[in-house]
Amino acid sequence: MRVLIILIALIFLIIYLEREFINMSFFNMKSEVPKHIQGISCDVKNCVYHDGDNYCTANKINVGPGYATSSSDTVCATFKEKKMK
Ligand code: SF4
Repeated sequence: MRVLIILIALIFLIIYLEREFINMSFFNMKSEVPKHIQGISCDVKNCVYHDGDNYCTANKINVGPGYATSSSDTVCATFKEKKMK
């Protein structure tokens, strides 16, 4: 009888640890991976990297040119036109 109780307790422990492992290493990791660049808000919806809301999904962006003297001089050099079909 004692062996049966220990066996059942072990099964519950294994199930609990497995669920904790899945929660910590799988689901949390997935939710921590950003699908867009954090801190970048973009309105250019006809760019292939635009997510349709206000975010950029490129791995990184380059903004230029280096001789800009105001924000209106700057452009996103990573922009790639989304071809409409
Ligand atoms: S690459 Fe540039 S233009 Fe395209 S979505 Fe990202 S920030 Fe906007």
